[in-house]
Amino acid sequence: MTKAVCGEPAVARALAEAGFKQLADSRIENVEKIRQTLGTGIEVMLLRLPMFSQCAAVARLCDYSLNSEAAVLTELNARATELGIRHRVILMVDLGDLREGIWPDQLDTLRRQIQRLPHIRVAGLGTNLTCYGGVIPGPENLGRLVALKNQWESKGEPLAIVSGGNSSSLQMVLDQSIPAEINHLRLGESILLGLETVHRSPIPGAHLDAFILRAEVVELKEKPSVPIGSLTEDAFGNRPVFTERGCHRRAVLAIGRQDIDFSITPLNRSLEIVGGSSDHLLVDAARAPKLKVGDIIDFIPGYGALLAAMTSPYVKKVYI
Ligand SMILES: *Cc1c(COP(=O)(O)O)cnc(C)c1O
Repeated sequence: MTKAVCGEPAVARALAEAGFKQLADSRIENVEKIRQTLGTGIEVMLLRLPMFSQCAAVARLCDYSLNSEAAVLTELNARATELGIRHRVILMVDLGDLREGIWPDQLDTLRRQIQRLPHIRVAGLGTNLTCYGGVIPGPENLGRLVALKNQWESKGEPLAIVSGGNSSSLQMVLDQSIPAEINHLRLGESILLGLETVHRSPIPGAHLDAFILRAEVVELKEKPSVPIGSLTEDAFGNRPVFTERGCHRRAVLAIGRQDIDFSITPLNRSLEIVGGSSDHLLVDAARAPKLKVGDIIDFIPGYGALLAAMTSPYVKKVYI
């Protein structure tokens, strides 16, 4: 998956060379980048439900798209007809996380509607968990997905793909508890950052530092830890909480919410993030006496910070 890295060609190439047979992204612009990078030598899947207005591009550029709406499937069918192709879709079923997906009892109705769309081929069923609702995958919800596949096949065509979720389902693969019929996962964070996403614990053998975020110190001074004066909201409408840690050496770094969220961890464990604003990050440097203005501090980004940093034109990307 190249979603968190804006379809970056270096990452797409690395994944293709690592042997992945399919790449996926949520944005059609990124799918186009993958196509330019890798041609038709790899299958590409659109992860976000297609916009009605982008169906022509989806049919032209994507081998697969994830779908849940009859109206969009009808539009995709029309665009695929013009191209003389059969567009393959994975129908998304909502198993309780309440983001995208057909409610299970509606699946049979949709199956009958799709029978009238000759340029749509249902390649499989899928589900998405642990995104909006934070629902953990388990034998019960993934078992329901398998039951729906069997129900579908008893009335319709065989399904090649049963896509059992995202990085949060990887733990079930590792401990071999995933239902055998599930033959496909859509992995983003686990591949890019080396974390499974139910407990955010490291995946055995994975690199946790594939992405390093670097920011420069622009101020370094002794300051109190609690603001002085009567307090209102910060620049973003929040009321920050301050911990009294006395006067301490504090660094201001030239990076902020315009580039990242603050889900970042300094590699130097003696540094501690205390807050920040649009363009500044504040770091407690009391336990880093050698730090000086102009120094670069390295961080491991969390998923939110990686996504934001890759999208920010102010963050320079270097691939080594
Ligand atoms: C982002 C996304 C994924 C990947 O999620 P990770 O938690 O990063 O593995 C999978 N499926 C869909 C539909 C997505 O939008």
